[in-house]
Amino acid sequence: MSSDPLVGQLDFDPVALKQKYADERDKRMRPDGQRQYAGTAGKFAAYGRDPWADPDFEREPIRDHTAVIVVGGGFGGLLVGARLREAGVTDVRLIEIGADFGGTWYWNRYPGAMCDLEAHIYLPLLEELDYAPRHRYSYGPELLEHSQRIGKEYGLYEKALFQTSITEATWLEDRQRWLLTTDRGDELTADHMVLACGRQSLPKLPDLPGIDVFRPRTFHSSRWDYGYTGGDSEGDLAKLRDKRVGIIGTGATAIQIVPEVARWAKELVVFQRTPTTVGVRGQCETPADWVDRSQPGWQKTRRENFQSYLLGLRPDKDSVHDGWTETLDVLIPETTAALAHRLGREPSAEELRYFSEINDYKVMNGFREWIQDVVDDPETAEALTPWYRWWCKRPSFHDDYLAAFNRDNVALVDTHGQGVSGFTETAVIVGDEEYEVDCLIFATGFEVAIPYKRLAGFDVTSRGVALSEHWRGQVRTLHGVSTDGFPNLFFVGGNVQTAMAVNAVHLLDELSQHVAYIIAEVRARGASSVEPGPESVDAYVDVIVHSEKNKAAFQFFAECTPGYYNGEGNAKTDEDLFSGGRYGDGALAYYDLLREWREAGGMEGMRFGDLETNEIRG
Ligand code: NDP
Repeated sequence: MSSDPLVGQLDFDPVALKQKYADERDKRMRPDGQRQYAGTAGKFAAYGRDPWADPDFEREPIRDHTAVIVVGGGFGGLLVGARLREAGVTDVRLIEIGADFGGTWYWNRYPGAMCDLEAHIYLPLLEELDYAPRHRYSYGPELLEHSQRIGKEYGLYEKALFQTSITEATWLEDRQRWLLTTDRGDELTADHMVLACGRQSLPKLPDLPGIDVFRPRTFHSSRWDYGYTGGDSEGDLAKLRDKRVGIIGTGATAIQIVPEVARWAKELVVFQRTPTTVGVRGQCETPADWVDRSQPGWQKTRRENFQSYLLGLRPDKDSVHDGWTETLDVLIPETTAALAHRLGREPSAEELRYFSEINDYKVMNGFREWIQDVVDDPETAEALTPWYRWWCKRPSFHDDYLAAFNRDNVALVDTHGQGVSGFTETAVIVGDEEYEVDCLIFATGFEVAIPYKRLAGFDVTSRGVALSEHWRGQVRTLHGVSTDGFPNLFFVGGNVQTAMAVNAVHLLDELSQHVAYIIAEVRARGASSVEPGPESVDAYVDVIVHSEKNKAAFQFFAECTPGYYNGEGNAKTDEDLFSGGRYGDGALAYYDLLREWREAGGMEGMRFGDLETNEIRG
């Protein structure tokens, strides 16, 4: 209990809580950091295999030219295709490793999969397609179906190449175009190339002793084995009725899987290293009038309203009004101005930080109390209780996760921050204990903050320089969408010097509109190429590198419990967390920056190439 002039009477001791958080964090710190995981490029290759594609698929190699090639068929690539078409560019070819569009929602077909943001702000192009989502938070099948809807409505299936990986991309200076080769023998040229390769698309697994000899059926959450479990992404996992299933991980994915498997498995054992903060979801079916869709621009307005809440700007009306905005409403209850009014002077940065920390404790205390209310067994409830600040790990919301632990067939194995330590031939090892299972699901996440070459799976070369070399030591972009020396190349997503956005699809849409504008404008000007000049890239990189807000955010995450938000506790700079850093003033300011640049109309900082004269101007 403590009284503080800045925060008033408190019914908890902030000093003790801070110490508890630090102790819990220290318990979880480990020297191998990110190296505890391995991707599916090496010995875990089988875990990356595509369960949804036809392994016998074959086609003849293609040699042709397209105006724009987009790499990636997830929401990013689909949005680029759609926004290009709106801008009058219809000759577009999407290339995708999977066998269909969908990206995240193509791969993640685990039972219970749903978007963790309100569907009306998350699903792309709802207004354009006049589509109303069926649930407040759409389930995986609807998200995949919506991806296909975009593909059909915008004619993107016509030239799409599926089950195709690019092997090399080279800028042909004399012909002012890109040449792409693929694993299917294609030789494709394009005036422009857009990389929309996602952000967390490569599964990762804990590289633990004994994993090579472990015999039970195993798979990663993003490659669900319905042949083994029975059913499909709608449920009905009947083949698990006589099985003891284990799941490693309690992140946003596991939160959604656990209640579904609990319904079907004979036994479910959840191996937990760090509990996730789980709030009330409030899932429901949504009638057609859930959102007033009559006003043009309604989706953009709704997305911006949500983003304003996330930034603590508190617009008059909370349109989405869910766990995200309600939590932020408590977390940032006073703007600097209001606090200044209360204190009768400007608060110092230190006071603001302290004030927000106190509010964070209040919010987390609320979540902690809710666990005690829902979970019957006090020991299990205690184990499920998170001890860190709300933003330290991706906050989750679910109506059935915590209650699943009240079932007789569900057991929580709390590893007290140490995690699963290895495997025998038949069992999962935690400390001195062994847990026999028939099947083990790895809900252990995806590779993050990796170099673009690894994310895309190929390098990009221009004027004899590889992008991986050009960006060695420092990612260089103008506005996170293009880089100097690489004409007609654009990035959409991948977190390269864009803004931090909880609603990633909002970010992808803003980027897609921006890239579509540039490409259409270059064509309208009759130029053969466009690229940012080095000085404009330098200036933008400077903004990123010297952002005080970035430094403050980095400091915040550095003190957090380990996770992918802070390089497993070992990040040295903001760049380690977001390839190349990010725009520190937040998503709305970043979107304004892009919009104002477009509205100025001068393509400031860009240089144009002319195929006739082979000159660069600008
Ligand atoms: P995460 O990386 O968030 O979680 C991985 C989990 O595995 C953590 O709980 C981690 O514990 C645990 N883990 C790793 N190694 C061990 C070990 N040796 N023993 C025990 N536990 C271990 O992956 P997710 O797949 O849950 O989420 C990935 C991303 O996908 C996130 O950004 C998430 O927000 C997003 N997502 C989005 C959804 C949406 O609707 N938009 C839905 C689902 C996911 P620890 O915390 O201790 O590291």
